[in-house]
Amino acid sequence: MDTDPNTSSDEPKVKRGFDQMVFANRSLTLENIKCYGFDMDYTMAMYKSPDYESLGFELIRDRMVSVGYPHELLRYTYDPSFPTRGLVIDTTYGNLLKVDSNGNILVCSHGFRFLKGEDIHNYYPNKFIQRDDTDRFYILNTLFNLSETYLYTCLVDFFTRCTRYTNLLKGFQHGDLLMSYRSMFQDVRDAMDFIHDTGTLKGRTIKNLDKYVIKDSNLPVLLSRLKVVAKVFLATNSDYSYTKAIMKYLLENNAKPGSPKQSWRSFFDLIVVDTRKPMFFGEGTVLRQVDTDTGKLRIGTYTGDLQHGTVYSGGSSDIICDLLDVKGKDILYVGDHIFGDILKSKKRQGWKTFLVVPELNKELKVWDQKKSLFEELKRLDVFLAEIYKHLDSGSSKCPDIDAIQTRMKVLTYRMDMSYGQMGSLLRSGARQTLFASQLMRYADLYSSTCVNLLHYPFNYLFMAPPVLMPHEALSQNSADVASELTVTNNIVTINRN
Ligand SMILES: [Mg+2]
Repeated sequence: MDTDPNTSSDEPKVKRGFDQMVFANRSLTLENIKCYGFDMDYTMAMYKSPDYESLGFELIRDRMVSVGYPHELLRYTYDPSFPTRGLVIDTTYGNLLKVDSNGNILVCSHGFRFLKGEDIHNYYPNKFIQRDDTDRFYILNTLFNLSETYLYTCLVDFFTRCTRYTNLLKGFQHGDLLMSYRSMFQDVRDAMDFIHDTGTLKGRTIKNLDKYVIKDSNLPVLLSRLKVVAKVFLATNSDYSYTKAIMKYLLENNAKPGSPKQSWRSFFDLIVVDTRKPMFFGEGTVLRQVDTDTGKLRIGTYTGDLQHGTVYSGGSSDIICDLLDVKGKDILYVGDHIFGDILKSKKRQGWKTFLVVPELNKELKVWDQKKSLFEELKRLDVFLAEIYKHLDSGSSKCPDIDAIQTRMKVLTYRMDMSYGQMGSLLRSGARQTLFASQLMRYADLYSSTCVNLLHYPFNYLFMAPPVLMPHEALSQNSADVASELTVTNNIVTINRN
């Protein structure tokens, strides 16, 4: 992917670092893209980690205490090494789960205590959850959720260990007061909504933009270049005044030396705030015009043509296509929310999608350092397959694979721990997470930042690597790889010359 097919032989070859690359799940040529759409939060506006999550954590923690939770909670501070995006909260038993695309449990913690085999089976006899039960299971899809994931874990930890409370299966008892895991979860959600709806988090962010928002001088360059070749729009769930403050910071005060001063609005053909995604990709809401002097919404539904520099509120993806006169298939939409931005725009509207995964650089770095563990896991897989390969329904002997399975668990644990306490966003050992499977299914392209588009010409052909099905992937080398391994006295050894 790092050779450029459009570069003629006398032009220098482009060499991109891994952290500058855009990856493709499905082949896509940028030449066919007539319109680029962008989300704002965590897409164009990248928040600084862990300062921003710490701020969110402290605000919801303080809110919980102010509505009556014990003051001891104030002792907890945010630990960025614990939560990973994409985890699931089981609101019935208060557990934090990492699952694969089918709902099989990969990792399970109760507070900060990680549960092992038997303990997991006690809660989940099939080591499986019915994740469609969205009333019970809550998926932490966005980076905004990291602070509430951590706060919920702190609450479970606190009440489990506090001697004033009696532990029950579904919560805690204190005198005649029952505190269920479910009500605690609802209180955390309410506190989160409170700091968003009252503008507390936004207010604190705007007051200290340098501390909380990454300013990348390549962002205005990318948008200016895109605008020459295609239409560009912004569709954000944030309100007008917050959008204005963030975009001014990112685009107006961020020009490279010598470039002309430009209003943030001039970078876009269309700006829509208060979009209420994912509803925006379906029925949507009433489209209104924003009075850019007062920030107030004009009454009535806007029905006119697109006016340059006008800011709209609400609407739907269909209205955007009408106003910009583009078809869904010609749009590349860039966002960070796997469900609200990517899955919905792809499934409901057939848009081309680009997922921003800010964690990707760290994931790549760890992957690069720990690849040998994964290679060993793969070898053990092949070795297991070899053991069973020569058995049929007439075989009565049962191969002893305990040593291999133990070794696989050790390798998986060591790999997971290299990423953080909850492991990688994308995998647990050899198995992929729900987030990884959704990323592969719904995101045509993905990268750690949208600015990486700058490293490719706008007629670039992104090629997806071919994916083989198991019957196609019958490896000729499997026997060779397996012969590198021997198991003697229950110890697995790799034979290398
Ligand atoms: Mg976002």
